[in-house]
Amino acid sequence: MSTTARTRASGATRLPVLGRNGVMTPELREPEYRDLCTDCGVSRSSDPHRCGSVCQFIRPRYAELEAQVHGRTRDRSRPDELHFGPFLQMARARLTPPLEGAQWTGITTRLAERLLEEGRVDAVLATASHEDDRWRPRPVLVTEASGMAACRGMKMGYSPLLALLDDAREMGFTRLAVVGIPCQIHALRAMEKELGLDALYVLGTPCSDNTTTENFHAFLNRLSERPDEITYLEFRADYHVEIRFKEGQVRQIPFLQLPLSDLPDNFFPMTCKSCVDYVNVLSDLTVGYMGGDGDQWILVRNERGQEMLELLGDEIELEAPMSKGRRKGPVKGFMKAVQRSADGLPLRKTPQWARPIVARLMPLLGPRGTEFARARLEMKAVEAIIQLRRHHPRRVKRMVPPHVWELANPYGLQPEAKEEPR
Ligand SMILES: Cc1cc2nc3c(=O)[nH]c(=O)nc-3n(C[C@H](O)[C@H](O)[C@H](O)COP(=O)(O)OP(=O)(O)OC[C@H]3O[C@@H](n4cnc5c(N)ncnc54)[C@H](O)[C@@H]3O)c2cc1C
Ligand code: SF4
Ligand code: SF4
Repeated sequence: MSTTARTRASGATRLPVLGRNGVMTPELREPEYRDLCTDCGVSRSSDPHRCGSVCQFIRPRYAELEAQVHGRTRDRSRPDELHFGPFLQMARARLTPPLEGAQWTGITTRLAERLLEEGRVDAVLATASHEDDRWRPRPVLVTEASGMAACRGMKMGYSPLLALLDDAREMGFTRLAVVGIPCQIHALRAMEKELGLDALYVLGTPCSDNTTTENFHAFLNRLSERPDEITYLEFRADYHVEIRFKEGQVRQIPFLQLPLSDLPDNFFPMTCKSCVDYVNVLSDLTVGYMGGDGDQWILVRNERGQEMLELLGDEIELEAPMSKGRRKGPVKGFMKAVQRSADGLPLRKTPQWARPIVARLMPLLGPRGTEFARARLEMKAVEAIIQLRRHHPRRVKRMVPPHVWELANPYGLQPEAKEEPR
């Protein structure tokens, strides 16, 4: 796919070499891990000390950065902004025809391709797969639209994406697009002013329940006797996990029948259990699926996001999102499970005989469309508060912003005096 760009271990640097289809995989420095860290790449950059001022786990700056990026913070009087952050337009969406190999229909890949085709950016920072492991993230710089094909699909694990900002600068790229998950985009936005770029386009995907690539392989081993043949996995909004195999076989497993309750306690790291930005509020355009009821779901957050969407013309179909069901019950049930697991108690399982019945009822009775997305946001809010209170009580004050307390309030969670956000 691509060529290693430089040698850093010795301190010597070589100019990055262009790989096939304009895909470059610069070599990475070693990270400097902190206790809560998702290896977004800042600690591997030329100035690792910036972690202290840009990291969402060390110095979260959601409201300040929302104002910097979108010109305003979330407006509670506008429908859904308390949950999803500032946006101009929300839609159910699909790319037609869908891109082969994409996680959903490939809106993300196509948007980045269009930015390169139109010459709006010199390069895109995105995440491809490691040569030896389809699931292991590998950050790349892409300079040709055809190179975006290498980045299609979700990988599980951490991608030190922002380390490549140094390489982009050394190559003289001043107009960039970045495709990233929320913890990467928080750090990017916090550094944006000092990057001195002429243009920055930020394409964000939602993210939840990430884990290390090693843990993810252990999960695949539990799901199938042929884990090495699994090429695709997604937690769908219809309460099923879809897995696809090399030979084209597809399996759909109801959430309830997943081997989740016997996973080790540290399967999901504390970073992702305490992460409060599910929907990538600091991106210009968020592309996900969770409010799409089987399609994709987009949030155009500002004018730059609008500009990107327009580049797709009639390649994208948009519809008003649907909303069905009630989220309160499922969020309460989830909260009880999180509370038990945070207290170190075993999860209460649905009895074996009832599982097929409940699994069939969930897609019919559970929240759907934007109500499903609202439910997931509230679940993440209560999970972050419970987990931080249990494991990092002194961080609650700094890490839980006011809007997250508002989302958790209907479930009886309010800040104590010592937890009031700064
Ligand atoms: C760990 C993880 C959890 C997610 N959870 C949710 C969720 O709960 N709800 C939801 O709506 N969406 C979630 N997403 C986003 C979702 O998987 C799709 O990426 C999104 O819907 C876009 O689909 P697409 O077909 O347009 O993407 P594609 O066109 O296939 O492009 C995917 C893009 O994702 C980027 N990418 C892939 N893996 C990573 C990674 N590990 N780190 C950083 N960037 C990566 C690549 O740069 C690529 O450009 C998650 C993504 C990740 C990585
Ligand atoms: S800024 Fe990135 S690299 Fe630094 S501590 Fe935070 S997640 Fe880790
Ligand atoms: S869940 Fe949050 S902290 Fe974890 S990888 Fe995703 S964006 Fe980063």
